[in-house]
Order: sequence, then C-alpha cells, then structure tokens
Amino acid sequence: MNLRRLAGLDILADEYSYARDEETGYTSAKRIPEKWVSTTCGYCSVGCGMEIGVREGKAVSVRPLDSHPVNRGKLCPKGLSEHHVIDAPNRARQPLLRKNGKLTPVGWDEALATMVERFRATQARHGRNALGVISTGQLVTEEFYTLGKLVQLGFGTNNYDGNTTLCMASAVSGYKASFGSDGPPGNYQDLERADVILLIGANIADNHPILCPYLEANPHKTLIVADPRVSKTAMMADIHLPLKPRSDLALLNGLAHILVKHNLVDRRYVDAHTTGFDEFARFLESYPPDKVAGITGLSVEVLHQTAYLYGRAQAGFIGWTMGVNHSTKGTETVSAICNLALLTGHIGRAGAAPFSITGQSNAMGTREAGFASSMPGYRKFDHPGDRAELAALWGVDEARLPRKRGLAYPDIVEGAVGGTIRAMWIIATNPLVSFPNQDVLRQALSNLEFLVVQDGYHPTPTTELAHLVLPAAIWGEKEGTFTNSERRVSKVNRAVDPVGEARPDFDIFLALAEKLACRDELFPGWRTPEDAFNEWRRVSRGRLCDYSGISYRLLSQADAVQWPLPEGSQPERDSRLYGDGVFPTADGRARLLCGHWEPFPEQPNREYPLVLNTGRTVEHWHTGTKTRSVPILERLSPAAWLEMNPRDALPLGLRSHDRVDIVSRRGRVCGVELRLTEIIAPGQVFMPFHYFESNVNEVTQSAFDPVSREPNYKQCSVSVEKTRPH
Ligand code: SF4
Repeated sequence: MNLRRLAGLDILADEYSYARDEETGYTSAKRIPEKWVSTTCGYCSVGCGMEIGVREGKAVSVRPLDSHPVNRGKLCPKGLSEHHVIDAPNRARQPLLRKNGKLTPVGWDEALATMVERFRATQARHGRNALGVISTGQLVTEEFYTLGKLVQLGFGTNNYDGNTTLCMASAVSGYKASFGSDGPPGNYQDLERADVILLIGANIADNHPILCPYLEANPHKTLIVADPRVSKTAMMADIHLPLKPRSDLALLNGLAHILVKHNLVDRRYVDAHTTGFDEFARFLESYPPDKVAGITGLSVEVLHQTAYLYGRAQAGFIGWTMGVNHSTKGTETVSAICNLALLTGHIGRAGAAPFSITGQSNAMGTREAGFASSMPGYRKFDHPGDRAELAALWGVDEARLPRKRGLAYPDIVEGAVGGTIRAMWIIATNPLVSFPNQDVLRQALSNLEFLVVQDGYHPTPTTELAHLVLPAAIWGEKEGTFTNSERRVSKVNRAVDPVGEARPDFDIFLALAEKLACRDELFPGWRTPEDAFNEWRRVSRGRLCDYSGISYRLLSQADAVQWPLPEGSQPERDSRLYGDGVFPTADGRARLLCGHWEPFPEQPNREYPLVLNTGRTVEHWHTGTKTRSVPILERLSPAAWLEMNPRDALPLGLRSHDRVDIVSRRGRVCGVELRLTEIIAPGQVFMPFHYFESNVNEVTQSAFDPVSREPNYKQCSVSVEKTRPH
C-alpha cells in the first residue's frame, strides 16, 4: 500500500487534474501535448493524415490533420485512439531467446547472431529455400524494400511472402490478368464524382470508415451495395443486392451479359483499347438473366435495373474488398469487375474506375516495392528485360535474382507441414489468429527447427511459440512512408522513442545484413530510411509506380502525393491511371477475360447446414493485437459474437444471448454469444475474426485461389449448437 495513500493523501491528483488547452478547452492535464508530430494512420489503407500529441516523451493524444487530402479533418474510432497502442502493456521490450524451453531475455547481438547462425545451419542442411519468410502490410515501404533485398539476395531464399496474401492478393492477380499490371486506376475523389457506385463485398462503414464521407459528399449518386449481409454499408445503399454467398462472379457475368445484349457497351472504347470481345460475348451466352437470378437469388428485374444504371452512367465506379478477394475464385472475380469497366469505358476518367480498396495501411507499399509476388517496381520474375534492368540498378549478377516467385504464404505453411520448410521468420503478423484452419498452422509451426517472430507486441499467440522474439518499434516510433489505396504516398514520422530495447524494423534488417556480411554490397552507405527511399525512387523510375519525383522534402510540404510522379513533374490533385486507354500489356490493350462461376467448395449439408461468413467490426483491427490493448475500443467490443437469422434459431431452440459453439469438419469455437438478427439471411451465419479466445479460424477451411493463393475465408459450412456447461 502506498504510504501517502495510507496517510489519507490524494495520490491520484496528477491522474485526474484538469487544465485548459488552447484548442480543446478544459481537458485532462495529462493529455495536453507539448508538441504535435504529423504522421499517417497505421491501421487501414484509407491513409488518414494525423498528428500525434507528445508530452514528456510519451504519445498522449491524436488529432486529424485538417489539411490532409484524404481525411480532411476526420478520423475513425481506431485512428482517434491510436496513441494508446504505443505504450500498451503487451509491447515487446527486449529480445527473448528460448533456452531450456523458456523465452529468456538476451542482448541484441546474441539474438541476431543466433538467428543468422540457426538459419544458415538449416539452409546448409536442407537447401536455401528451407527458410520461409512471412511479412506484413504494416511495415513502411522503406522496410519492405530493404527486407525484400535482404531475404532474396542476403539469405538467398525466394520463399518469401506477406500476410497481404490473406487480404488482397486476388486484387493484384486480377489487375495483372486484365490490365497487365497491378495498380488501382482510380482515386477516392471518384466516389464524389461517380453517378453510379457499385460496392461489391465491401463493408466500408466498418472497415474503411473515412471513405463514407466521400459518399455523403456526392448527392447525385445511386449507391448499389452487393453483399449477402445487410452490413452497415448496405444500410446506406439506394439498392441493396442481397446475393447468395459467393455468387458474385455469376452476378458480374450476368450484368455483362445484359450490357452486351442491350447495347449498353461502349464499342468505341472496346474496339480501341481491349482484346477478346468476340470470345467474351460468346462466353456470356452462358449467363442469361434467368439463370443468373437462380444462382444469385436476385430478381431478373433487379439485374436489369443494376446493369442499366451502370451501363448508362456518365461515370460508373465499382469498389470491392474482401468479399470478393477472400474466395477460391477471387482472381477471376476481380477480372470480371474489370470486364464491366472495360465494356462501358468506365475507367481512367473522373468518377470511373474499377477500384480495389486495400486492407492494411501499407499493403500497397509491399505490392510495389516488396519483392514477393513480383520484383520491385512491378517487374516480372520471368521477364528478361525486367531482370537485366533490376540487376544493373543494383549492381548484382542477374543470376542472383530468383527466376520465379517462391512459395506463397499458404504454401510456405504447407511446406512446413511437409518438411520442405524447416525454419521461418514471421514479421509483424499473428497467424495464430489470422490463418485459416488453425490446426494445420499449429502442425506447421511445431515442425520447425527454428521460428523467429519479429513483432511490436509480446506475448501474442504467435510469439509464444517462437524460439526467438525480436522486439520491433511500431507506428509512432519510426520513420518511413505508407502508400494508400489510391496510390497516395504519405510520411510516417517518429514521435517518441521505441519502448524498452525495441528497434525499428529497418535497423533490425540492416543489423542482420551486417551479420550476413552483405550490408555494404546490398545497402551501401545506408543509415536511415530515407537512404532506402532514395534508392527506391531510382528503382521505380520509368515504371507504372514511378516514385522518382517524390522526396521526403516534397512529402513534408504537400502532406501526401500520388504515384506515378516522374522526376520533374508536378503532383496532380487527383491522378488516375489509364486515362489514355493504354495498358501495360504487350499490345497496350486490356483483356476481356472469361471466368466461369462455380459454387463455393464446401457446400452445406445435413450435418453442417449453415454457411459461415467472417469479417470485421469498426472497433478492432485484424487479430486485435493492437486494438484490444486500447481501453475504449476493447470496452466497445470486448468479445466475439455470432449473427444468426431467427428462422434458423427457432428449430434449434436457440435464443439471443445464448452461448453457442460453432462447429465445422476442422474444429470448434466454444461459448460465443449468439445474436439473432435479420441482418443475416436464413442459412447463413456471421462472426468477426478479431478474437483469439474465440477464434473463428479454428473452423475455416484450407481452400485457396489457384492463382493468388488467397484463402476462401468467406464461406464454409458449419453447425451451431448450444454450449454445454463443462
Ligand atoms: S479510416 Fe483507416 S486510416 Fe483513417 S483513421 Fe480509420 S483506421 Fe485510420
């Protein structure tokens, strides 16, 4: 007991004292900053600009940047409370090495020397590619760029991928197939300029909240939302299309059928800028409205209404997120979205775009610079010119560049199960919450000879299994750049020192390069993230994602600018790709692609009669590592729940707030609160995926898109039963 408290003195006076702040008025004295440091939100890909308030070396508050072109003075609940993530009690503060079965504090030198020695020993025994590396969409671009070189040229393994494969790999592969390159063509301002907006599998009200003001600022739009669930975004719609689970590809093909049949096609655009129309038109014969109505559960009338609205729009916008990507048909569904834009010429103009809304704060950075599914600057592994150019820029022998991409994330996990992957390095991600079919993952990780987890937090379910934990600095403690969904690059700045002995990922990568004796060769003279950024500018020069005109100086003056920005050019307020109708394919034309709809792989049956859909809630971020340590967010949404239609609950004798188990062929999630609601259609249930203690991924399946390798999180068959008392 505190002696002052025993003596009856008020020991909490400092805690609760109030003072007057110039801007906010009477407020907690502890939260009045001495200075503000501008930065970019570290959660989602909207990319809101903000300032961190700092007092006595601690982050004490956050406020939106009024001048920032993305959020214009607004933040969502996660952004508004983001300063709490820095000094959270579960931060990783020192390197930990497993000794005699126990994670034991060690110095950085011992940690990194052990890591290099163990990885090298494993690679010597089993081959270089026995090392698998899984990174994230949360690092700054400078770190992705550095990590890609370090992994592929330093450690010499190409089995390198990111958790971005779990969220937007299908957008990447769909864009590549249709347009010849990744790269979202439009921008957020298109949401204000379009007269018809179709959001498909995109619940932006929960997942990208600061995009909603763009919709509100557009009084002339017709908003169509295609989602099996009456999500918060569907509630904002003029027309809600409550399609059956995973019938999206049939819907898109059916809309294309109507566009072609009813002369709603922009033939001038199609003839000038696309290939494959005749074959595509023949393919669409298989998608007449009555058949599509049967597959989707939508009426023929509403299919015609939607096609006519989009086909006759002056500027039609289609946005999508995980409802499309989380599918074994994700790549083809993305191409089907691109087909609609190409047929109607709704691309490259104000308000007109097929637009992938990305997930993580810097998923775009890893797509452009990351060296996982392609080489930096969207260069292709198998393109001789791309290989020669990159090797020359780096001054390395071309033979050192991998000839093809290595294993994707799910295949690295499968490799660990099968014994081809023997060591793993996991960076800033928490697969023991986020990966589908957790049993397989547990088996994979338990097989490893050496597992390194580099993270800002410990313990997490994943760090607890590691042989070595490297404590990393997080948002607010390090410097670099993020690129948001609309290709807008903005600065991330260090407001406070990293906690404990944590170090920025950039510094960890350079220290590892030192241990590998490749620092001078791969990172000559590099000291700061700006050194990496300046090399990235040179490497991206002349590419679609040209950063050569973007500098740290420009970003400090302009808040945020979009790529492409070739050196010497002036930033545009809102730039778009493909305005000239020229695409980065061999013939300069985009491709109309035929992708047939198929039912999702695990259909419901008598034993597992319900289709489980998974997703997010506005209060939490992914695996909850960060947001569940933020008191206000955790209080708002402290536990998982299952949404079920009352008509399904009745024969099971279930009532709202009952505790239920969700059971699939792979596992069981126990004791989840049941919510009976008409938000979800009969035959379907929905559960959020943020909660490790009620982890929905115990029941999801190992089914992946054959091209992108993205998991089919959105549909698996389950049963629901009342939780039995133990
Ligand atoms: S919308 Fe996304 S980027 Fe903006 S404050 Fe919220 S979480 Fe951050």
